[in-house]
Amino acid sequence: MEQLAGWGNFPVTEANLVRPERLRDLVPVGDSVIARGLGRSYGDAALNSSGTTVLTTKLDRFVEFDATTGLVRAEAGLSLGALLKAMVPRGWFVPVTPGTQNCTLGGCLAADVHGKNHHRDGTFSRHVTKATLVLASGETRVLNQSDPLFWATAGGMGLTGIIREVELQLIPVETAYMQVKHVKSPDLDTTIELLTDPAHDAQYTVAWIDCLASGASLGRGVFMAGDHAPKSAVPLNREDPLRLKMKNTKPFPIDLPGFALNPFTIKLFNAAYNSFQGRRGEFLSPYPSFFYPLDGIDQWNRMYGKRGFVQYQFVLPAATAQIAMREVLRRFSEARRASFLAVLKRFGAQGPGLLSFPTEGLTLSLDIPMSSGILEFLDGMDAFVRNHGGRIYLAKDSRMGPEMLRAGYPRLDEFCEVRRLVDPAGRFSSDLSRRLKLCP
Ligand SMILES: Cc1cc2nc3c(=O)[nH]c(=O)nc-3n(C[C@H](O)[C@H](O)[C@H](O)COP(=O)(O)OP(=O)(O)OC[C@H]3O[C@@H](n4cnc5c(N)ncnc54)[C@H](O)[C@@H]3O)c2cc1C
Repeated sequence: MEQLAGWGNFPVTEANLVRPERLRDLVPVGDSVIARGLGRSYGDAALNSSGTTVLTTKLDRFVEFDATTGLVRAEAGLSLGALLKAMVPRGWFVPVTPGTQNCTLGGCLAADVHGKNHHRDGTFSRHVTKATLVLASGETRVLNQSDPLFWATAGGMGLTGIIREVELQLIPVETAYMQVKHVKSPDLDTTIELLTDPAHDAQYTVAWIDCLASGASLGRGVFMAGDHAPKSAVPLNREDPLRLKMKNTKPFPIDLPGFALNPFTIKLFNAAYNSFQGRRGEFLSPYPSFFYPLDGIDQWNRMYGKRGFVQYQFVLPAATAQIAMREVLRRFSEARRASFLAVLKRFGAQGPGLLSFPTEGLTLSLDIPMSSGILEFLDGMDAFVRNHGGRIYLAKDSRMGPEMLRAGYPRLDEFCEVRRLVDPAGRFSSDLSRRLKLCP
């Protein structure tokens, strides 16, 4: 038994953990089971206070790699970080990556993660050619994209079974560097224009938003665009452009006390960040600094103290996004519900994953320290998002109610039907699935 939480440190539960070391030991144990990778989902998706949590992190071996096609097969507990470390020097990169490399292949498929390139390349599952899944019966099933169970598993948050192996199509790169462009934006309209205007498009785009700015500056921020750098863009004095000198991460030293993060300190940070990042213009960046700036500080979530934080990520459909996003930012700014990290991204077309989060439109994610009244405030925000046709991301959620899930995910019944065929007793379950009464 161990105390366990998601990355937001809210909620915290007691967990009965098992950690198999070989694939043959990867079996569902007990009446309620959920898999857990590196625990980078923010809420209770990888928590199971009523049963067993199966840690996959020791199942992290490479199985097969074709150096001519870039097709790689590995155990589901392999982290993106370990995969990149092995593959970038060989000229291959992951096709879709979230903002941390400390997550497993299984976690990426189960949450069907998106990256800064969703508008071009879709979600993680689009690039998965095969996956093996351990079912509630103990049987192992090989899934490909023609199988409905594949699309229930992609984004299914571990509720169809335990992913054992993932086969992934990597993309070729010439260097380990990114060509990056930062553009300062004075307001929301400009930020959205930068994200949606083809003239500013790149393979990866995102905008950081100062969510404490108000009035004419509401939605100001820094637009960030990046492409993998070709060999010709990297100075000749870098011996091998596919190799980087990896820096050691520095640990965040303590859990900060609750009062350390307040609208005043966050306002100071936001002003400094806006000014520094906005001035950088065009530059060459090693890929970890572009994709994973937060991974440089180990356990940065301790900055939010013992009470933890909530990451609120929602998507609004393209038709309502611009107007509704303004109202959301106005409410956050007015309520002084501060966030260091407010990130706006554009999503492209929706994929076939039955519970996959991305739908065409704009997505905003905000890290919000736990404080009194915050849960009620976010309930009000849910109602607004729901009324504007939006939905909340399950991998970030720790608090929404079942009605919000049902309103946002119209393919939920299809998901439950597929799940019932392979797990009629609902053996795979988590604190998230019980809170959301996911397939009653
Ligand atoms: C700094 C940071 C940035 C992030 N940025 C993004 C982003 O840009 N885009 C994005 O989409 N997400 C993002 N995330 C969320 C993160 O990518 C996902 O939550 C991902 O699922 C984490 O993988 P994990 O291995 O830690 O999974 P865990 O958190 O351990 O588990 C997540 C879910 O996957 C299931 N699961 C894990 N392993 C398996 C398995 N082998 N079989 C079946 N189910 C399994 C769990 O049951 C759970 O439901 C970010 C998280 C952090 C901390």
